[in-house]
Amino acid sequence: MEILSGILVAKQIKKEIKAEVESLINQGFKRPHLAAILVGADGASMTYVNAKEKDCEEVGFDSTVLRFAATITEEELLIEVEKINNNTEIDGLIVQLPLPKHINEKKVTETISWKKDVDGFHPYNVGLMFKGLPCYLPATPFGIIKLLEYYKIETSGKNCVVIGRSDIVGKPMAALMLGKNCTVTICHSKTIDINSFTQKADIVIAAVGIPNYVKAEMIKEGAVVIDVGITRVDDDSEKGYKLIGDVDFNSAATKASFITPVPGGVGPMTRVGLLLNTLMAIKNK
Ligand code: NAP
Repeated sequence: MEILSGILVAKQIKKEIKAEVESLINQGFKRPHLAAILVGADGASMTYVNAKEKDCEEVGFDSTVLRFAATITEEELLIEVEKINNNTEIDGLIVQLPLPKHINEKKVTETISWKKDVDGFHPYNVGLMFKGLPCYLPATPFGIIKLLEYYKIETSGKNCVVIGRSDIVGKPMAALMLGKNCTVTICHSKTIDINSFTQKADIVIAAVGIPNYVKAEMIKEGAVVIDVGITRVDDDSEKGYKLIGDVDFNSAATKASFITPVPGGVGPMTRVGLLLNTLMAIKNK
């Protein structure tokens, strides 16, 4: 069994991005600039945005975080998004989700110009992705593809089961694996007898949000197991919490050929996916 280390691969790709940024600047391009909108003070969201800011600094991007109180109205937030759409200094914009309940997330993400939609959530980018055309790919599935490519995991002709059908992970993940010539099955909460699907899969990608959901008996010997899940569970550590994946690592690792850990697997690759999209935004210009 081999660990698919998102930490290691992300480090390597970040080095390459940094070198490319310097080369672009030498050619007269401006420094890529990522803006993030953060609404409210949710602990996990603040951690993610801080990490994205740190990543930008590491690879030589400019970054701006616009912080708003949870009481901001939908209308006010949409105006802020439009301001960034029209700001030529900013190349990419993300809105950290979830947003407070009184704000329609769909409306906000669809207001972001598709040209600056480095999260790849805008319907126009989703359409391009499904057609296999160049676009901003949703960061998590994009990062997973990069991880599989780095470890030279064979995908062509393989059976891939994606558990979860969310717009940000499951559906785009399935589309990208189809693009990598897998035979893809998507399972979800209404799937009957999930094990009968996962047990036949060469590659299992779990994006369910249920800690330790995938166990050894669900997978076949030699399967590649990708754990997207991140559930925060309070504990006595310095941080006050730990992160638990959707895969019961110790159990699944007894049968898997390759497996991602949590943390240190898909998480760092998601952050790299966002950086690659922001780099693409400046190149498109
Ligand atoms: P989501 O929107 O809640 O979707 C979860 C999916 O799992 C849904 O499609 C749901 O099916 C399915 N599901 C729920 N219970 C199930 C069950 N018992 N059996 C089979 N399928 C079931 O979540 P998400 O946004 O895709 O995220 C999934 C997990 O990944 C979460 O833990 C999230 O924190 C994590 N995540 C991690 C990263 C990263 O960078 N590592 C990025 C994004 C998300 P229905 O559609 O039928 O309800």
